[in-house]
Amino acid sequence: MIAQVLFAVVLVAAIVLFMRNARRIARNIHLGRSEARNDRKGERWALMTRVALGQSKMVVRPVAGVLHIIVYAGFVIINIEVLEILIDGLFGTHRIFSFLGGFYDFLIGSFEWLALGVWVACVIFLVRRNVIKLKRFVMKELDGWPRTDANLILFTEIALMTAFLVMNAADLTLQQHGVDHYIEAGAYPISSRIAELLNFPAQLSGTLILIERICWWFHIIGILAFLNYLVVSKHLHILLAFPNVWYSKLQPKTEIPNMPRVTGEVRSMMDPSIPPPEAAAQRTVAGVDVPERFGAKDVFDLSWKNLMDAYSCTECGRCTSECPANITGKLLSPRKIMMDTRDRLEEVGKTIDAKGKWEDDGKSLHTRVTDEELWACTTCNACTQACPVNIDPVDIIVNMRRYLVMEESRSRPALTSMFTNVENNGAPWAFGPDKRMDWAEELKS
Ligand code: SF4
Ligand code: SF4
Repeated sequence: MIAQVLFAVVLVAAIVLFMRNARRIARNIHLGRSEARNDRKGERWALMTRVALGQSKMVVRPVAGVLHIIVYAGFVIINIEVLEILIDGLFGTHRIFSFLGGFYDFLIGSFEWLALGVWVACVIFLVRRNVIKLKRFVMKELDGWPRTDANLILFTEIALMTAFLVMNAADLTLQQHGVDHYIEAGAYPISSRIAELLNFPAQLSGTLILIERICWWFHIIGILAFLNYLVVSKHLHILLAFPNVWYSKLQPKTEIPNMPRVTGEVRSMMDPSIPPPEAAAQRTVAGVDVPERFGAKDVFDLSWKNLMDAYSCTECGRCTSECPANITGKLLSPRKIMMDTRDRLEEVGKTIDAKGKWEDDGKSLHTRVTDEELWACTTCNACTQACPVNIDPVDIIVNMRRYLVMEESRSRPALTSMFTNVENNGAPWAFGPDKRMDWAEELKS
């Protein structure tokens, strides 16, 4: 009974903590501008099924893709078993689903094969990161916590799978010894080997029960801790990948949306019968009025989808490894843009939590992302194409550049002269409209 009460307390605490963190993340995402992204629903469901559920973009790189699918399938499927653990924990039963008979055997057997697959995949992932040191895993932006975070989660998954298999091995031996409470149920293709190796005699059943219980508690507490760890780590993508892909941009990737206000102003200038656009309604966010800006100075000026993108980033670096600017030695890394956006959003969120409302801290997204990084982008969209969860770093880059140009008058010298020419000559070149046909005259003579 004490164990059941303890279990209920741990479970409720984990759920409450998770809900609190989930609400904080939802609040942070809603600090962004509104943006309609719920049209063409059929297409969106199909996209989510293909890209998030079917992992279609992961398998473009077959080794990492297949290993990731094993870990992903393991995470989703093995956790069906968590349902049984929850019921057993709350009601003091043992293997409550064993009444399913042959199907139960099939389930436990499949979980064991998956657990082994996850175990092997995580070891290979660790080797790729720490021994082989693949280029995209040793880049500067991963120094410190991001690298520790990635390793920590892999070690945790290995520990959880080990606990699951050792728990089953102890359970199987206890079943074979006919110990009370340990009813004969399940098939154990992997843990039966561990049981053979350990070869515990019947007189050590007390020790075996202790091992089984320790692994059982470790497994369930590990999963509940993992759930709460997700919300403070890049592993949030496990939950956010699905909505993030559903809300993907459906227009052609290279289509850069106009700024409605600017388009309206230009139309009005060219046709005086069109009235100039009205100023946007004042937006109040986290207790303060946020001015309407051209482009993005801080996270408030990005859309909620940009901010959800930032929380969905897995830090896999596929975008950066395809980015021509990065490959040719420029400072730009689209992964870093996403990480910086998330870190700044977290920083803003913490201030709001501490002070009850937003108070300007004198920093912005531009404190983290330099102009040099922003101007290195060619807007080729190789990064959005490569991203397995359809994140769009280019939209953030373009909006930050818009802010630099339109609010700060900061751009590259070559661009500044181009802007001047467009303004004065209606074309990017340094010749007036009256000189436009000179080249043809030259050809004639
Ligand atoms: S769009 Fe920009 S950030 Fe993305 S791959 Fe191309 S150059 Fe790199
Ligand atoms: S933006 Fe996408 S491709 Fe780039 S690191 Fe994040 S998840 Fe990976």
